[in-house]
Amino acid sequence: MIVVMQSDATENDIEHVVELVRSFGLRDHVIVGTDRTVVAAIGDKRDVDTSAIETAPGVDRVVPILAPYKVASREVKPEPSEIPLGPHAVVGGTRLAIIAGPCSVESRSQLLEIAHAVREAGAVGLRGGAFKPRTDPYKFRGLGEQGLELLAEAREQTGLAVVTEVMSIAQVELVSRYADVLQIGTRNMHNFNLLSACGQSERSVLLKRGWSATLSEFLLAAEYIINGGNHNVILCERGIRTHETYVRNTLPLAIVPAVKRESHLPIVIDPSQGTGHAYMVPAMCRAAIAAGADGLLIEVHHEPERALTDGAQSITPEVLVRTIQEIKQIAAAVGRTV
Ligand code: PEP
Ligand code: MN
Repeated sequence: MIVVMQSDATENDIEHVVELVRSFGLRDHVIVGTDRTVVAAIGDKRDVDTSAIETAPGVDRVVPILAPYKVASREVKPEPSEIPLGPHAVVGGTRLAIIAGPCSVESRSQLLEIAHAVREAGAVGLRGGAFKPRTDPYKFRGLGEQGLELLAEAREQTGLAVVTEVMSIAQVELVSRYADVLQIGTRNMHNFNLLSACGQSERSVLLKRGWSATLSEFLLAAEYIINGGNHNVILCERGIRTHETYVRNTLPLAIVPAVKRESHLPIVIDPSQGTGHAYMVPAMCRAAIAAGADGLLIEVHHEPERALTDGAQSITPEVLVRTIQEIKQIAAAVGRTV
């Protein structure tokens, strides 16, 4: 349930409500809004006497949260959240967040070349996997910690925020040491223990939608991270599996207005995993921004034909430059900047 405080409620009133909520064995989540503060009370409410909360000083009303997800829902927090992307940028503000880079970190020269190119093109984040989830265990699975060191060096040189995948609980501490944002991949969206472990990290989390997950399951996965104590969750649509074969995945952009209605969390679109084909990426970038997405996660490689992973869906830095130019016009039409 949500306890909506009166607009003139005092700090003491709020503290008292928090204590009451805790006394019923519920977890509190205080959200300070522009107009008034609300206290979300999360947990099993069967034995809770809501009248005790309703009559507490400074309380306006108590309303149930209808959505299955609670702290990720718009009901609890009507204003959109701005989530840090490293120290210099946010996702969810007026400015769109362009995160670009290779699918995988392959070598120092490869990463630095691409990092400088995407920085020049206007990106604010650098993506690149050091730990790669691979269907085929005999394929390149990433450089591991060496890849993380290279990402940190690229950040040092470019100022870009580093977004990189964490695949297991055992990696959370290590990846958090190097990354600005922990990426949870599509295959791990249902790994509830990993979600909770990332909830303990100080780093923002970019959560990819499971390729067969519903929107509700996606937001419940985000809920696990927030419940772990980490409010900084960025949602990422990367395409779902359908019967269609002309694309690697089907990219359902309708999720953007749906997320905006259901949640305060920002959403970025990954048109690279979302289509599997480089030629489709610019069009899907344009469409995503027109639909209201808060940013893009794009695979870029200076030599896509030589890429160790996902070359077919990687655009070149030249195409990224053109795409960002096109996006600028669309962004202006929907009240955003790049
Ligand atoms: C990736 O971003 O390279 C990746 C492996 O993503 P996903 O988890 O969406 O497949
Ligand atoms: Mn990839």
